[in-house]
Amino acid sequence: MRDVIGQRRFLDKLAPRAVRGDVAHAYGLFGPRSIGKRTLALRLAQTLNCESGVAGGCGTCLSCRKIERGVHPDVRIVARAAERKDITIEQIREMQQDLALRPLEGRRRVVIVDDAAELNQFGQDALLKTLEEPPAHAVLLLITTTPSALHETIRSRVQPLDFRLVPAAEIAAALSARGLQGADAHAAAAAGRPGIAIALANGAPIRAERDRVESELYRLVGSGLTDRFAWAADLADESDPRKRSEAIEARLEHWSDLLRDAAIAARGELARPLRPLRASETQRLAASVPASDLLGAALLVERMRRDLAFNANARMMLELFALQLPYSAAVKAV
Ligand SMILES: [Zn+2]
Repeated sequence: MRDVIGQRRFLDKLAPRAVRGDVAHAYGLFGPRSIGKRTLALRLAQTLNCESGVAGGCGTCLSCRKIERGVHPDVRIVARAAERKDITIEQIREMQQDLALRPLEGRRRVVIVDDAAELNQFGQDALLKTLEEPPAHAVLLLITTTPSALHETIRSRVQPLDFRLVPAAEIAAALSARGLQGADAHAAAAAGRPGIAIALANGAPIRAERDRVESELYRLVGSGLTDRFAWAADLADESDPRKRSEAIEARLEHWSDLLRDAAIAARGELARPLRPLRASETQRLAASVPASDLLGAALLVERMRRDLAFNANARMMLELFALQLPYSAAVKAV
């Protein structure tokens, strides 16, 4: 399917069916971040409404272009607003009113819920009604990194598409086919997630930012409490809550991978690192800090990422992290 890297295990069957319009009413797109869930959701929506009937959509007809730009009247993306802690029931009701109507321009109405785990109790209950009795023209695509957060009643009504990590060679080939430089290196650094490889290949600024944020963790690991608290105060000081959350989330996303790698390496079982380019820092951290402390820090980061979505007190959260992050002088020089 156009632009989708990997996942041939289910795409080989799904793509031709989508071209014929022979699809289920609801799919669950499950898997880690940056693995291609949202891309596939858009390509499915395009396939179902493309004027040329090509797998993945032709990408050039009016329908494909409108879907790509997010302005097609029959394709709706439901996502949490930045200032909210979840997807509201009003968003679901509004979507349902729309979905009940016949398609305006295309053949199918497609609703993409991203991230479906951000539906609260009421939102999930309301969505369940649509899943139980979907209009004939409706296709719902529920995207989430944490399908376990969905009610069993919802999960049992969607056809699961479980995204798996993509082999580096396949990512590298896809990058080369797009004419991107450094395909092998970026594919290796992405550790199975095409979205990361593309982001890395597309821009030096993204690479530099990633390097900077990664180094920040190692610097903190080598810092004493005074410096760590100053760091927490600085980061919590941003008065725009949205910017503050984004800055914290950007760090947690990278650090979660780094700490996970170190924790597994400390147990001597790191076969597939998420950050292969940081192998030497990972080894030094693993050799100088007990595995249980690294695991504790990795779990704390995951908890902080969840709490962040619920507008937790940023300063308190960061100070707790400053206290619990293991200390090691071994990686300080990085
Ligand atoms: Zn098209």
